[in-house]
Amino acid sequence: MTTKPFNRTIAVIDQRPRSLPVPVAPVSGALDGQSTDTLGRPLRDLRISVTDRCNFRCSYCMPKEVFDKDYAYLPQQSLLSFEEITRIARQFISLGVQKIRLTGGEPLLRKNIEVLVAQLSQLRTLDGTPLDITLTTNGSLLARKAQALKDAGLQRVTVSLDGLDDAIFKKMNDVDFPVSDVLRGIAAAQAAGLGPIKVNMVVKRGTNAHEIIPMARHFRGSGIVLRFIEYMDVGATNGWRMDEVMPSADVIALLQTAFPLVALEAAAPGETAQRWGYADAQGRHDTQAGEIGVISSVTQAFCADCNRARLSTEGQLYLCLFATQGYDLRALVRSPKPDGELLEAIARIWQGRSDRYSLLRAALPVQAADGENTPRRVEMSYIGG
Ligand code: SAM
Ligand code: SF4
Ligand code: SF4
Repeated sequence: MTTKPFNRTIAVIDQRPRSLPVPVAPVSGALDGQSTDTLGRPLRDLRISVTDRCNFRCSYCMPKEVFDKDYAYLPQQSLLSFEEITRIARQFISLGVQKIRLTGGEPLLRKNIEVLVAQLSQLRTLDGTPLDITLTTNGSLLARKAQALKDAGLQRVTVSLDGLDDAIFKKMNDVDFPVSDVLRGIAAAQAAGLGPIKVNMVVKRGTNAHEIIPMARHFRGSGIVLRFIEYMDVGATNGWRMDEVMPSADVIALLQTAFPLVALEAAAPGETAQRWGYADAQGRHDTQAGEIGVISSVTQAFCADCNRARLSTEGQLYLCLFATQGYDLRALVRSPKPDGELLEAIARIWQGRSDRYSLLRAALPVQAADGENTPRRVEMSYIGG
């Protein structure tokens, strides 16, 4: 008999939270890319969710029991248009954003996504350099889309893949999607020059931990950076349990039994992954073999350097992956207000930011699985990973 991890009683209602009022206090200081939040963190990275829909039902993100045929996805008119997204992105860039990641849901399901990429790729950062534009995908449509995305100006992609064993992967994506099609997508992205490619593997103890070494062996020496992500308590529907989290320290210890590793410096401030290089016989980094990364969102909070903002599919601005409420930028962008007001609003919101959920996690009460009496945390598929 199959047993469910817990009982979910989630009403078929719109689970998206209400928005916070955009603050009206005057902006302190110059709007010149030096704006920082209350903890001194600059704004550098914007993640844009382009759809709340997905063709996978990963149990840790969009469990089938909740995201079923009755689930209330956003109607088309709620979605920000590509022009609205580009206009909002331009204001973020004026405040210091240098990197944009398109995500979702599954971003390649958004019709003509390459048109948005082409619009964003025209933008320049404050120092006049091209934006760093990337996209996170489950890889299912990548073989078809890789070349068009590259031609439109996309620089690189991150592909999610939770194992090489078909049975495990199919169990995790819960739609019977085979590993081989994702690998074909990765190969197409490589051929199109969408690199360096990163592959994200969410590790769930008891589900796919035994895929860690096979995955490392497969991608070692390929030029692809494999990153192991701790299973997170994001959203309110995945039935997260701490005992299913495999700490990154354990992942590294396991990998070291097969491949000696050396710790590497962070490539950029605010980088979420800790980098490890495959070591040569002298214990130095073997650059031909490449590197792996671990993202320890649960066991080692990286809030102190968190320079990321998230724009939901319908234009809500979220300041943290674990936020319960966002700020309605769509109302502003659809009003006759000029760009200056949009810019000031975003600056004010960022300057008031104090979010640091992962740092505080240990001290917080565990959120009820069905969210009763607690503000419902926003879902990862809505806000974008
Ligand atoms: N659909 C695309 C994909 O899967 O790559 C983009 C959106 S997905 C929400 C972005 C990333 O979040 C993926 O790499 C996914 O594995 C990760 N993710 C989703 N739920 C997670 C969870 N509960 N814990 C850790 N990572 C998670
Ligand atoms: Fe879809 Fe990505 Fe979430 Fe999996 S992790 S359900 S592919 S949005
Ligand atoms: Fe950033 Fe929130 Fe994650 Fe901390 S918990 S790193 S503030 S998104």
